[in-house]
Amino acid sequence: MILNEVFFSVQGEGVNIGKPAIFVRFGNCNLKCTWCDTKYTWDPAVADNVRVDLPELFGKIRAYDCKHLVITGGEPMLQQDVICAIREEFLDYYIEVETNGSFAATEKCAEAVDLFTVSYKTSNSGNAPYELKMFGLACVYKFVVDAVGDFEEIEAVIAKYKLPAEKIYLMPQGVTRDELLKKHDMLIARCKEKGYTFTPRLHILTWGAERRK
Ligand code: SF4
Repeated sequence: MILNEVFFSVQGEGVNIGKPAIFVRFGNCNLKCTWCDTKYTWDPAVADNVRVDLPELFGKIRAYDCKHLVITGGEPMLQQDVICAIREEFLDYYIEVETNGSFAATEKCAEAVDLFTVSYKTSNSGNAPYELKMFGLACVYKFVVDAVGDFEEIEAVIAKYKLPAEKIYLMPQGVTRDELLKKHDMLIARCKEKGYTFTPRLHILTWGAERRK
């Protein structure tokens, strides 16, 4: 499999924010977000992915005393067979997956995962519009908001796919503490108005762009 890194931290975003978790960062992505903070998973100019076999990957996960996995990337749904293999090896772990939502999960992969955080990328990412393909009870939807002008497009996506308000998370775009804090008020106001959930980016607020934190 194509791996980028495995490290132990706390979940910095979304449903499980603040919980200790092992991050398993898969390599490669099918999108190219201009503000991507993990270009080292897919941009040939800076990518530092490695090819590892499953026993090696399992060993890296076992190195930490924690049963909460965050499988992220890059785009981990490019390697759904690996997600399924991780589930078979770590039956009693809580497994969450972070995806851009452009790939449908196989039945086996959907059953393997406790939570999918689906982050559909709107035009502020610089990508062309694409079809959202991730649905199901285990999904929540996280939108990255750069400016107030993004809300119209986000609402159109929510309406098109009939996504329930209680599953919507709004998160500020930013890779520095100052950049993020400037956007908190705007997003919190929107969440109060629409019944969405605000999520900060705890890892950036705490450690900035430092890796493996
Ligand atoms: S989908 Fe995620 S990993 Fe891929 S380019 Fe966008 S932010 Fe980066």
